[in-house]
Formats: sequence, C-alpha cells, structure tokens
Amino acid sequence: MRLTHLTTFSLLSAAIGLSLASTAQAARPEAPNLSNAEMQQCLSSLKNSSQFRGISDSTFERYRPSEPDPSVIQSLNYQPEFQKDIWDYLSALVDSERVDDGIRAKQQWAETLRQIEARYGVKAEHVLGVWGVESNFGQTLGKKPLFESLATLSCFDRRQSYFRGEYANALKIVEDGDIAPNDMTGSWAGAFGQTQFMPSTFLELAVDFDGDGRRDLVNSVPDALASTANFLDKRGYRSGEPWGYEVKLPSGFWAASNRKDKKSISHWRDQGLTLANGSPLPYDLSSAGLLLPAGKDGPAFLVGKNFDTFYSYNASESYALAIAHLSDLITKGDSSKTDFITAWPTDDPGISRQQARDIQQGLLNAGYDIGEVDGIIGDNTRTAIQQYQSSRNILPADGRAGQKFYALIAGHGIPSRPSLYGNQNGQASSIQPLNPAPADRMGQLIQQQTTEPSPSSSQNTYQPANQSSAQPSNSGRVRYRRVTGADGVVNLVRVDDGS
Ligand code: CA
Repeated sequence: MRLTHLTTFSLLSAAIGLSLASTAQAARPEAPNLSNAEMQQCLSSLKNSSQFRGISDSTFERYRPSEPDPSVIQSLNYQPEFQKDIWDYLSALVDSERVDDGIRAKQQWAETLRQIEARYGVKAEHVLGVWGVESNFGQTLGKKPLFESLATLSCFDRRQSYFRGEYANALKIVEDGDIAPNDMTGSWAGAFGQTQFMPSTFLELAVDFDGDGRRDLVNSVPDALASTANFLDKRGYRSGEPWGYEVKLPSGFWAASNRKDKKSISHWRDQGLTLANGSPLPYDLSSAGLLLPAGKDGPAFLVGKNFDTFYSYNASESYALAIAHLSDLITKGDSSKTDFITAWPTDDPGISRQQARDIQQGLLNAGYDIGEVDGIIGDNTRTAIQQYQSSRNILPADGRAGQKFYALIAGHGIPSRPSLYGNQNGQASSIQPLNPAPADRMGQLIQQQTTEPSPSSSQNTYQPANQSSAQPSNSGRVRYRRVTGADGVVNLVRVDDGS
C-alpha cells in the first residue's frame, strides 16, 4: 500500500503517543496557509481535470467541502523531531489490554476468521494482529471528514498529484455505494475504516465478504477482516508459515540487522542460533532474515516472508513487529506477560496504556493541564511530566513516561484514585506517590543514577540531559524523517530500521 506508512501515521501517532522530545527544540517553519478562495478555485479546476473524469459533476458538487481543513495542513507540516525508544512504542501498542481485546475478538469472530483463513490462507491471528494495531479492533477509525482532508491536501502545495488521485478515488467509493458518505471519515491523510486503507488501496483490495453487495470496511467486520487478509495475500503471504520467531544469538555472534537478507533455517542453525528459549530452530520458515530492533543486546528475531507482508502494510519494522508480537500473544491466549524473552537494553522499560492513564490522572489531579486522560503520552502530557521532573529536580527532565516515572507517580500498578493524588489547591508539588516508601526509593535511585550513570548502560534513560541529547543512541530509537521519492511524493519514513 503506497504511502500507508504515511496515511496511518496520524492514527498510529495517536496510538503510540508520539510527541516532540524535549531535547528537540529546532524551530518549525511557519506553516503556509491555504485560503478558502484558493481552494475553491483549485477545486473548480480539479473538477474538469483528467483525474476526475470518472466522477459525475453532481457527485463532485455534493461532497465539495465549503472550506479547507487547516488542521490537515498542520499535520502535513508537522515535523516529528522526536525520537522514541522501540520499547516505548511497543509497550503501548502491545499491552495486555490489547491482547485481551484480541483474544475476545478471536472468540467473537471465530467462524468468520475460519472462513477467511480457508479462502485467503492467512492465519486468523495475523489478521487480528493487523486489525488490533491499525484500528484497535475497530474502535479507533479516525474522525476527520475524508473529503475535507483530501480536498485540502489536493489543493495545498505539496503532494497534490497523489492526493488528487485519492480524492477522486474517495468520491468513486461513495458513487459506487460501497461506503455511506457519512462514514467517510478517517486519518488526516485519508486512510479510513477498520483496515485503515487509502481510497486507492480500497479500490484495489477491499472485498465484500458478508455478501451484501457492498465493500464496507467501516461497518462490516467480515469485510474489513477479509480485506486485510486479501491485502496480505496479494503482498506475498505464505500460508502455513509463521511470521518468524524470537531467537537467541550464540555468544560472540555478530551480524547486522538485515531482515531482507534471507537465508535458510539450516544456515541459521549452523550459525548457532536457537529459539529464544534454547530449543532448536524449527524448519517451518522457507527462509528468514535477522532482525535486531535494538542492536545485538536486545531481543533478536528471525523473520520470514509473512513479516514482510506486515511491513508492506505500513513500512516500518517496529510496526510490523508490533503486529507479529500481538498475533503471537493472541495465539497464546495469555495477556499476563507481554515482554519478549530477552529484555530490551534499558533499565526503564515502557508503560502500558493503563499505566499512561494512571500517570495522566495523577498529573490532572495535581493541576497539570494534560488534556484528556486517554492513555496517549502526547505533547501536553510530556510537557506536564517535564514540568514535574523539573520541579523535583529529576534529571533528565525529558518528559518521558517510563516504568520509573510510573512507579514514582502512580505506584506499582495501583489504579489511580483522585483522593490519593495531591491536595485541593491543585499545586504541582502536591503529587504524592501512592506508596511513599518505594516511590522514595525510586526517587533516590533516579537521583543516584543521574549523578552516577552506569558506564555500561549507554541507553540508560536517566543519563544527564546534556549527555543524552548530545550523544543520542542510534540503537532501538524510532525516528522519522521526510523522504522525497523519485515520483516527487514526500513520505514520512520511520528510520529506526534503516529502511
Ligand atoms: Ca459487505
């Protein structure tokens, strides 16, 4: 799906709580505007252009937006000058809550998933993994009116050609009667429905699986799940193969992370690799490449062709790993432990969405303006955390919410309760840990680590601020950059994986 990694960016960024890192303070360029007069003039000429030849005048005019959506331009211009550790990314996307939701969805849609597997050859849990990561099992579809978004993007100064095509395709979808006009809402860039397809992907790959004559990826779970399976199938899915598995590297082994360099299982066995639990590698992958998302000291994986089909859904190895891991945990049917066997190379792992909500509730009760308690560590929450860290002299005041900050502010998994946080006047200093003893110890630990960083822990989150900002570790970080393709299309690309 071309541009899927961009088009799902808005939803994904919400899901994983992307925000500007405190250390990245580069000024953003002033966003150019699109006036309504400019847009209406643009739309009038678009109507007569070749890209809209298949769309009737009445359809075009019926869904013609009365004004541009400036928030779309804001999103387009957003420069994600942040970095996010992969363990933060995965801990929010693959938490026990999402695994439980997936286990329930698997039971609820068992018969549909069986039929889909029979027709497309795609394992039920792989479909569920995509569904869970893309739209939280149909719960998060995006609320932006698609025609406003796509019309704005079609007339704004960049990527016009691509978005004009998507705009015309979106109009075609309603003209065909597949999706009700009111259901045409989605991410700022035009991805919509439970599968978060772009309109062009919809026209290419959506299927009507419930047999009502419409390909309704918004309201029909069977249509959405079958369309996902069809997508994976058309991108080269191999029936009966796992996506890959976590492995253990023999001591002294070194190889670069390169999932595209596929070798036989015999090759990897000869190299001394085993499953992470020490068992011999099974011969159920036709070929596999090595994936080291956080370098050789973190979890290691051998990944096959099916991992690549996840990757094609949203060009990011971290994203594909989230789907893979979620699908494994749903298969296992156990949400109690969501970690990999090998720990991430950090002493401060990421938090779940529930833990994020607990932190947000604590900050809110203490008078910090964090916006909505939504489990998403966004700009407002990060700013509040940073202010709290500064007020307590916790260094670095980086605004990051990891397990240590969670322990400090919210206790150890104890649900937040208003009466346990702060006092009535809502002063920042009023935040009290639920359990003072461990929290105080944690505070001491943080202070201690701040002044005496362990030389062996290059990715220690609690390095002094100047050190961590001056020498960011490349390993295990999720970064984004803009890449202009040969076709002039600008993509947001996650560069955590060197792709
Ligand atoms: Ca249907």
